[in-house]
Amino acid sequence: MVLSGDFKDQSILLIDQEDKSRNDRTWCFWEKNDGFFENIVHHSWSRAWFHDHGFSKLLDLSPYRYKMIRGIDFYSYCKEILSRQDNVSFLKSRIDGMGRSGEGPYLSAGGLKITSRFIFNSLIAEKHVVIPPYHDLLQHFKGWIIETPEPAFDAGVATLMDFRPSQKHGATFVYVMPLTDRRALVEYTLFSKSLLQDEEYEDGLRHYISDTLGIGSYAILEKESGVIPMTDQPFKKAEAGIVNIGTAGGNTKASTGYTFQFIQKQTAAIVHSLAKSGDPLKIPERSAKRFKWFDSVLLNVLAHHRMEGHDVFRILFKKNDPSSILRFLDNDSSVSTEVRLLNTLPIWPFLKAGVQEIHKYL
Ligand SMILES: Cc1cc2nc3c(=O)[nH]c(=O)nc-3n(C[C@H](O)[C@H](O)[C@H](O)COP(=O)(O)OP(=O)(O)OC[C@H]3O[C@@H](n4cnc5c(N)ncnc54)[C@H](O)[C@@H]3O)c2cc1C
Repeated sequence: MVLSGDFKDQSILLIDQEDKSRNDRTWCFWEKNDGFFENIVHHSWSRAWFHDHGFSKLLDLSPYRYKMIRGIDFYSYCKEILSRQDNVSFLKSRIDGMGRSGEGPYLSAGGLKITSRFIFNSLIAEKHVVIPPYHDLLQHFKGWIIETPEPAFDAGVATLMDFRPSQKHGATFVYVMPLTDRRALVEYTLFSKSLLQDEEYEDGLRHYISDTLGIGSYAILEKESGVIPMTDQPFKKAEAGIVNIGTAGGNTKASTGYTFQFIQKQTAAIVHSLAKSGDPLKIPERSAKRFKWFDSVLLNVLAHHRMEGHDVFRILFKKNDPSSILRFLDNDSSVSTEVRLLNTLPIWPFLKAGVQEIHKYL
């Protein structure tokens, strides 16, 4: 927004209750070319493993690269750019509420009432309560950056999904993002309805590192954890001049939990729309309704155990080239690619789920 130069005469105030000086998360996503945040990509991979019991495949991700950005690098980079702009100010404060009065949208922060032409909001209102027939799964995970005394990783090859851990709590996989031959992010991840106890994620990580990676000795350098909503219930885009962005703006892909790139696309579209028309929301629907339907269908298949998650992903990766799958998961595929991909999956579970879900999109 700031770099576009279109808003030099507008004042922008960025409010956050934290100063964002902690490395509180790591973002991974795939991209074909250099992206807007290329300068801060921490590591990237063009090859990755997929594993399930009795099946392993080394995936050539080209023309994509799977990229990792550390939260702290992202925050520092953005703060550095923003602090050089005369029209951008920062306020470290908790936001206690938002609404609209005669003067326009406002928020309350640190005892102040701040009004503005627009508020771009990334706070999720209390709890996004999901009402049936919408699905309410969660992607929840815990990850460690570990370091081994001896070389244990190939820094050129990631593990995108390893479904070999027990599936007793729902679709469970580990991903491994090696940064050097001795250092890697290992993340234990589930798609399921309820969270585990803290020790269960840690047990999952410990077992995976010792039993699957065969690593006996290591130091834990950093820890991260998170919960991402996997729901097909629409999020409110805007209300009374308050424009929801980020996860709150419905930018999480319901069937995978990937959010980072969808946020970048929505933000770019908002800025473009504001500059062109003065309205942040004159943006064409970014992706056809069919992608939302596909998300609902996969959530339905998982929620009703029509097929187990590891079977769905194993078949997809076994029978299709990775670039088609990544394009599909980006909501960027052609209908012919989708027909080809979906044809590789068992027809009945998906047909039943497809019929059950179609009413949400008619
Ligand atoms: C640990 C973790 C790892 C993730 N990894 C990936 C990934 O690899 N790939 C991917 O695509 N997605 C990932 N995600 C999902 C998603 O990309 C992130 O959650 C992303 O940060 C969402 O951006 P956001 O702006 O919606 O929310 P946030 O980044 O959470 O920003 C919200 C901001 O609001 C502030 N805030 C909250 N409440 C208040 C309040 N009351 N007053 C003032 N400030 C407040 C917070 O301090 C925070 O800075 C991950 C999420 C987590 C939690």
